[in-house]
Amino acid sequence: MQKKILTGMSLDELVSFTDSIQESKYRAKQIHNWIYLKSVSDIEQMTDISKSTREKMSAISQVTDVKIKNKQVSADGTIKYLIEFADGNCVETVLMRFDNRANLTACVSSQVGCACNCKFCATAKLGFIRNLTPREIIEQVLTIQRDTGLKVTNIVFMGQGEPLLNLDNVLKAIDMFNKDFVIGIRRLTVSTCGIVPQIDKLAQMDFQPTLAISLHAPEHSLREKLMPIEKKYNLDMLMNSLKNYVLGTGRRVTIEYTLIKGFNDTIDCAKKLSKLLIGLKANINLIIYNPNDKDNFEKPNKDDVQKFKYILEQSGKKVTIRLERGSDIDAACGQLSNKYR
Ligand code: SF4
Repeated sequence: MQKKILTGMSLDELVSFTDSIQESKYRAKQIHNWIYLKSVSDIEQMTDISKSTREKMSAISQVTDVKIKNKQVSADGTIKYLIEFADGNCVETVLMRFDNRANLTACVSSQVGCACNCKFCATAKLGFIRNLTPREIIEQVLTIQRDTGLKVTNIVFMGQGEPLLNLDNVLKAIDMFNKDFVIGIRRLTVSTCGIVPQIDKLAQMDFQPTLAISLHAPEHSLREKLMPIEKKYNLDMLMNSLKNYVLGTGRRVTIEYTLIKGFNDTIDCAKKLSKLLIGLKANINLIIYNPNDKDNFEKPNKDDVQKFKYILEQSGKKVTIRLERGSDIDAACGQLSNKYR
């Protein structure tokens, strides 16, 4: 008999489980705490549950079936995990820490591979393999917590895959992060390359995670060279959808812009980007391109990055430069490629 996996069950589902073994609702609550707040990986670790109940549980269930296939620790403390699921497929998940902040941010994957084929992205080279289930998404955060003993405070869907192409499962995972892990909705960020109908759908929801848009170019002709999605949902459609999203939800969006030397880091691009974003309630996050061994792009010069930032700031927007984390272990933005495999 295949054992039930307890991770991924809501409190109600755990109550049904404890009912099935003639245990109380209170037992379900204890199991829930052990899984989501204390991050145990084994029923034997649930020490406030009697030995006989643990034996009953172990006969038909287990906490998890995912494995850490590989783990790399960067000089800056970033940890990258290659996580293997029951069917042998793997994804990468990254834990980022920043010296002067208490936040611990997990960068999670939403799909095995990705179909979007952005030219600067190592994941794109894997192609699309399959969507992750809600449980496989939350297992990534639990794997980090089980391994480090630390509590993740922020989650960004910026790992492998396009989260809005797996929206139902991503929303179920977000709901669990919010209710079961008790992480505030504003500490949950979904990043998309611009799947317009799904952004429109997200705008209709009762709750919204923070929305980040991978823009990376200020005009159609340049963007389509980097991101094939531009052919389907072009910048005009995307900007229209974002304006409606902000209007409908009152939420500010984050514009992510990866600066690539000589390609989109020019003064002309900065001016065009400022103009494009007029009237949109947005913060801008500039990302320094991280070279990977699969394309010919280069990192921008520091001076050009500062000039670009300065021009954007003149438009009154808040502009930040993303701190580079984990590039020595290929864990930085755009570098996730399951290389170990
Ligand atoms: S950047 Fe994101 S959407 Fe684009 S190919 Fe990579 S994983 Fe997919």
